[in-house]
Amino acid sequence: MNPSHPSIALIHDERFQNHRAPQGHPERSERLIAVDRGLTSFTPYLSRLTSREATEEELLRVHSAAHLRTIEKSAKQISSHFDADTFGSEKSFATALLAAGSTVELALRVAKKEVNFGLSAVRPPGHHAENDRAMGFCLFNNVAIAARALQTQTGMDKVMILDWDVHHGNGTQHTFEEDPSVLYLSLHQYPHYPGTGDFGEKGRGVGIGSTANLPMPPGCGDHEYLGLLQRAVGPIARHFKPQMILVSCGFDAHREDPLASMEVTETGYRTMTQYVRNLANEICQGRLMFVLEGGYSLLGLEEGTRGVLDGLLSDPSSSLADVAVTQGSSLSAVLNRAAQVHAPRVPDFGAP
Ligand SMILES: [Zn+2]
Repeated sequence: MNPSHPSIALIHDERFQNHRAPQGHPERSERLIAVDRGLTSFTPYLSRLTSREATEEELLRVHSAAHLRTIEKSAKQISSHFDADTFGSEKSFATALLAAGSTVELALRVAKKEVNFGLSAVRPPGHHAENDRAMGFCLFNNVAIAARALQTQTGMDKVMILDWDVHHGNGTQHTFEEDPSVLYLSLHQYPHYPGTGDFGEKGRGVGIGSTANLPMPPGCGDHEYLGLLQRAVGPIARHFKPQMILVSCGFDAHREDPLASMEVTETGYRTMTQYVRNLANEICQGRLMFVLEGGYSLLGLEEGTRGVLDGLLSDPSSSLADVAVTQGSSLSAVLNRAAQVHAPRVPDFGAP
């Protein structure tokens, strides 16, 4: 690494460990200690931002007032369950406020170019949280709240959310599916939890075309992920022309993850990040940040974090070789199905 490389602003606060899981739950505080291990060798490039709580106004752009009150009430109880696998402890409300608010703060700094890139290593995660309910370990939808804050507080018109968590981000999709100003793109294992995210889900009404789903069969890895970024995400993003890219960055597509069946490695996360960084440099003046979502293997979280940091700090003039598409492969099958939905609007869909 070269000392002249850009600085990366980091949200990382021990208080994110205060959201306590019941014994044996995969979304546990040790996840952030694993992220910490992944950050160790990058200290000279990281500037730590102070965490802050989200305001009610910021939350209400995405969530109903009734939902806020439900989560708030959980602070009065030692433990709460919002659905079969989504829990709360006494400090969960405060921690979730901190996760959403800090992600907003980081997004605003990246938007204003006060920092080059951002990494928001928060808990609880957010992309399954719906307008009016907690779901899939998520209480408030951090990335959606940040996207709305960018539009309201910086005047930014068009924001892109790239979600490479292995699960489909139903909450984020539903927040923006009728809105042409936020592009939501998801790569995920399918069929899998939460059940949404098929090819045909492409937005509604005036939002048609600003949602794009790339559901993938189990067993996909570095090759398929980079291939889909190059041939599907890149063309759709160039067509949309966002002013900033937010990555819903789960590390549960890692080969060791216990909740999914993908095969992404540290090298994969590095090249995926390098691709997205180059794309951001090309289309939105480099405005790019990552928000932690899932990832339940401690090794996967450590390697994924290292991969992202390595990718951000890689030589910006270096380009990646185009991934070849073999006929009959999983990559080819996903691209062909997605082309039926998106190629009529995005003429260079499928080209690297
Ligand atoms: Zn996930």
